[in-house]
Amino acid sequence: MSEYRSWPPDGSRSESELSCEEALARVYEFLDGELDASQHDGVRRHLQKCRRCYPYFDFERLFLDYIHELGAAEESSPGLEDRIREVLAAQPD
Ligand SMILES: [Zn+2]
Repeated sequence: MSEYRSWPPDGSRSESELSCEEALARVYEFLDGELDASQHDGVRRHLQKCRRCYPYFDFERLFLDYIHELGAAEESSPGLEDRIREVLAAQPD
């Protein structure tokens, strides 16, 4: 009678289905390219479909771009700073 309760079995969820916490915990490694292929894909897919996490991811990416630009060129780029502020202002929290 209780057979139907075997769904969903623990641990059988697709590994690519990350929670928001898991995705955000890995976002730095994701951006640095330190995750293996399946982990990288899992984070990417979560960020693509999760509207709550995406602004955060986008901000992190902008921030890293900004750091890279600072390292690559002495000249700062005020336009990028404005974009980062826009992303921050658009965050749900
Ligand atoms: Zn999420």
